Amino acid sequence: MELQLNSKVAIITGASRGIGCAIAQTLSIEGMRLVIAARSEALLNEVAQSCNNEVFAVTMDLREPDAPQKLIDSALQKFGQIDVLVNNAGATKRGDFLELTEDDWHDGFALKFFSAVRCSRAAWPHLQASGGNIINIVGVGGRTGNAEFAIGGAVNAGLLNLTKVLADRGNKEGIRVNAINPGSIATERLQTRIQLFATEHNLSLEQAAGQMAHKLGVARFGTPDEIARAVAFLASSAAGYCQGSIFDVDGGQT
Ligand code: NAD
Repeated sequence: MELQLNSKVAIITGASRGIGCAIAQTLSIEGMRLVIAARSEALLNEVAQSCNNEVFAVTMDLREPDAPQKLIDSALQKFGQIDVLVNNAGATKRGDFLELTEDDWHDGFALKFFSAVRCSRAAWPHLQASGGNIINIVGVGGRTGNAEFAIGGAVNAGLLNLTKVLADRGNKEGIRVNAINPGSIATERLQTRIQLFATEHNLSLEQAAGQMAHKLGVARFGTPDEIARAVAFLASSAAGYCQGSIFDVDGGQT
């Protein structure tokens, strides 16, 4: 399928590793010019070097209220246009509801929910000018609550609703807004949990991964690349009639 993304400009938040890194590499293969943001300059530079096309790395803490506007300004200064915004940065603390602190809740919302709000608001007029689109990387926890995932679930549910809100507005203003719900994707974060499970239950890593996947009702964990390919599709004109769509890419977990 010809995605016609060549030389368009995408901003990807949280692109220093995991799903964000895979999205950067995939969109770069499609010929896009990229602006990638995260906190680690060294990791961002590694990602930039692994990409085919021009990449501009912006080191910032996206929990800071003024960081999203700076990110959008940097992208415009560098490339003069924005075609795609991928709100991917996110990290929410797991744990027992009664033990999670006020700070944990504020932190989870500050990064994943509010950076998506602020990046979308700052990018909006420029996406309107380019007829561009927004893709929110959310998570199946936004659909199905889980006792261990109180903050992540609430943040994701909010972001799914924001996707619909912005899609409704985008309908009138020529901006497509869609979301992807990854299931359990084998990033470093999941590898750490597999390692812990293996140690606790005296299993090999392969056995631990198999048992964890079985408990979730899936045949295997997904790969970052499988999320990235869905992003490339949604970013492209091939998805021209996708508006407010919420794609579960979860191996059937939901
Ligand atoms: P990850 O922890 O591997 O990567 C998160 C990215 O966000 C990194 O680049 C990190 O540097 C960046 N980041 C973290 N804090 C930041 C901050 N304060 N300022 C700027 N950048 C910051 O996570 P991942 O597994 O690749 O997940 C990416 C997205 O997908 C997240 O929003 C996550 O909630 C969502 N998700 C992941 C899974 C999964 O199984 N991996 C499942 C559902 C949803």
